[in-house]
Amino acid sequence: MKPKNKLQREVLKLSQSLPELNDYQRKDAIKKVAPHIAKYNSKKEYVCLDCGHSWTGDEAKSVVCPHCHVQLKVDKSRKWNYCDKAYFAIVAKWQGFQVIRMFFMQTNLRKGREASYWISEAFQRWLRPDAKCTIISRARHWLSHYCDCWNWDSDLELRNEHYGHTIIPYKVVGHSSVIPEIKRNGYDGDFHKCSPYTLFKMLLTDNRVETILKVKQYHLLRYAMAYSHTISRYWASIKIALRHKYQINDPSMWFDLLNALEYLEKDLRNPQLILPKDLKKSHDEWMAKKRAKEEREERRRQRERELNEEQRYLENLKRVAKDEAAYKKAKSKFFDLEFVDNEIVIKPLTSVKEFVEEGHLMHHCVFSNQYFKKNDVLIFHALVSNVSVATIELSLENMMIVQCRGVHNSKPEQYDRIVNTIQSNIPKIRQKIAS
Ligand SMILES: [Zn+2]
Repeated sequence: MKPKNKLQREVLKLSQSLPELNDYQRKDAIKKVAPHIAKYNSKKEYVCLDCGHSWTGDEAKSVVCPHCHVQLKVDKSRKWNYCDKAYFAIVAKWQGFQVIRMFFMQTNLRKGREASYWISEAFQRWLRPDAKCTIISRARHWLSHYCDCWNWDSDLELRNEHYGHTIIPYKVVGHSSVIPEIKRNGYDGDFHKCSPYTLFKMLLTDNRVETILKVKQYHLLRYAMAYSHTISRYWASIKIALRHKYQINDPSMWFDLLNALEYLEKDLRNPQLILPKDLKKSHDEWMAKKRAKEEREERRRQRERELNEEQRYLENLKRVAKDEAAYKKAKSKFFDLEFVDNEIVIKPLTSVKEFVEEGHLMHHCVFSNQYFKKNDVLIFHALVSNVSVATIELSLENMMIVQCRGVHNSKPEQYDRIVNTIQSNIPKIRQKIAS
């Protein structure tokens, strides 16, 4: 992409004046980013995969190579070839710009060979003090989704930002130099495990991030990098936490708590509520209350939907009359069935209106799912003192009880007695079918 304005022309020119990776930076990258492995076998023999030196010694998790003096992680597996790929960043100021240079490094470790490292620069972000960012980058292989598939033969030139540029470096390497505007806004010489670019950009544009960094709430700082909208939304509560020196060590859990309190219409400025001593306990309690309220609301909405549906249905008198007639025609021969077990009376539903009432009373879908239209089933209800305690679906094809449900689809208290009573009366139902 050709530069289109003064800024782009300036950045492109400056980028060509950036120095190559120097020896110190290269060594630092190898030290911090590359894996360093010692193989260990049953003969108590170590082999350093950095330099190839071998020696014997007692088993340990980590050792220092006596030849190259590198700290090594001990690996007892049978693996002898390692290929590691990682990104690292170099952070430098250059002619008033803050530059974040991203390098890709591939490390190859092999038995009997010295380790080899291949390093190439993938892209650079050029941040102006007003937070405007310009990208100088290699081209990407368009067919690939992998983040390390840069076209290394292409030039570092002006390019549009894309997903590949959002990689977070594994380490920042060498000495970092930072423009005064970023230092003024709170940068203290440490990235606190944040991506340098995101941290700088936010320090230049969002004074809340500056505040969080200045009071050393590093967990919250890292959270803010990814969820700035949550920080905005609960900023009033965050300020109270900061004022009370409340350490937010688990921001996700803390914001879940705030979210639950908000849903329950509690005061998000009340330190008693929002700054609990035992966050986990408080979080669990309020989340449970939130879930209970959500369930109540959902039931209420469901109820409203059903009522509307009933209303609409019942208003259409012609259709109701037609359905009533069809239901009577199909099922009236069963209407005089009645099975009794002490206080329980079991009877078929005898009209579509009864389906409406049953669904209404029992808070289930016997009406809304139009069970009265199903020809191969018979719907009963079980009554105690003339009030329904269960609705029962019986298949007329195989005389099986498909379901027997109480209020809100619960299992009714008298489930076994109801099921037994119907089963013992199956011959009577068969007689009706035959009649
Ligand atoms: Zn070595």
